[in-house]
Amino acid sequence: MSKNWRPATQLVHGGTLRSQFGETSEAIYLTQGFVYDSSEAAEARFKGETDGFIYARYGSPTNDMFEKRMCMLEGAEDARATASGMAAVSAAILCQLKAGDHILAARALFGSCRWVVETLAPKYGIECTLIDGRDLANWEAGIRPNTKVMFLESPTNPTLEVIDIAGVAKLADQIGAKLVVDNVFATPLFQKPLELGAHVVIYSATKHIDGQGRCLGGVVLSSKEWIDENLHDYFRHTGPAMSPFNAWTLLKGIETLPLRVAQQTKNASAIADFLAEQMQVARVIYPGRADHPQADIIAKQMTGGSTLVAFELKGGKEAAFKLQNALEVIRISNNLGDAKSLITHPATTTHKNLSDEARAELGISGGTVRLSCGIEDTADLLEDFAQALSGLAN
Ligand SMILES: *Cc1c(COP(=O)(O)O)cnc(C)c1O
Repeated sequence: MSKNWRPATQLVHGGTLRSQFGETSEAIYLTQGFVYDSSEAAEARFKGETDGFIYARYGSPTNDMFEKRMCMLEGAEDARATASGMAAVSAAILCQLKAGDHILAARALFGSCRWVVETLAPKYGIECTLIDGRDLANWEAGIRPNTKVMFLESPTNPTLEVIDIAGVAKLADQIGAKLVVDNVFATPLFQKPLELGAHVVIYSATKHIDGQGRCLGGVVLSSKEWIDENLHDYFRHTGPAMSPFNAWTLLKGIETLPLRVAQQTKNASAIADFLAEQMQVARVIYPGRADHPQADIIAKQMTGGSTLVAFELKGGKEAAFKLQNALEVIRISNNLGDAKSLITHPATTTHKNLSDEARAELGISGGTVRLSCGIEDTADLLEDFAQALSGLAN
């Protein structure tokens, strides 16, 4: 199978395992186990002398297709598909750590990711420091002799801050630590963390990869060596495996990823430019705009803007609620990456569990709103914003 295919081709053909029936669309193999032709064949399979599947918690054909397709897209040697994005994050982090080790992480993290490193890991004797990841000096200063994992997401949720992935990867290499990047917001199309020097990439496939709001999923991608030494046994024995049905749904989802992300980004870019001109809006943060505070890093490490836009309303929480309630096409939901445009008020939903101080550190105020753009017609989304904003005082 050609490794030189461009992404749009990889995502339609990559990793396909056709059965003897020659089906066009990928088959769903809903099976827990596999039978062997003989006792000797079973023995050889268990010894690893022959290729093949053993048990669906370890791997299965539909999941294998999904993993191989993701590997091609990401330029990774190996991958494991997981039941959710959080199963991917927790497995990728915990599988390589033991009591006494230290995690250095950027503080701007998806809520559950922050809970895993800040609250869960310390229960098992794994230390964690959270820093403002935008400044490389903070990463350097945060390193301890026992730092084994560095963890970040970029762009971040919800304020779309950006972190210099190559810069952090270099610091990790200097001390033999592994950099894990949550690449959900960038999508595999706009940012390639492994090429930038990261060691492990994770996705919530629930987001753009499904892209149609149907099922949960996740994936961990890395070198074959890292997976063999760290994730392989952890994955087999703790059981975060993805359902084959979800692997099939996601395989069909990623066929249209480039088309959807292109339209979502076109919509996001148009809405960001529109909002930046509105009296009721104090600030727009969009990685595709020249006025993004870290436009220089974006130019270095991303090949596209974003499907998300963050903005701040002058009227605070009251204005944010009023705007969300007045929108007719754009729906209120904390999900993202969907074909439908979704809007959320982080301070009262996704980030409500943080202290006021932690929210302020992340730049989340009462007026902060996060928009995930769908694939609708751009003009309908702009008209929806125009009518909803007209009800707010200037
Ligand atoms: C959604 C999300 C996750 C968690 O994924 P689930 O599939 O919901 O478990 C992790 N990181 C980021 C950035 C996300 O957006």
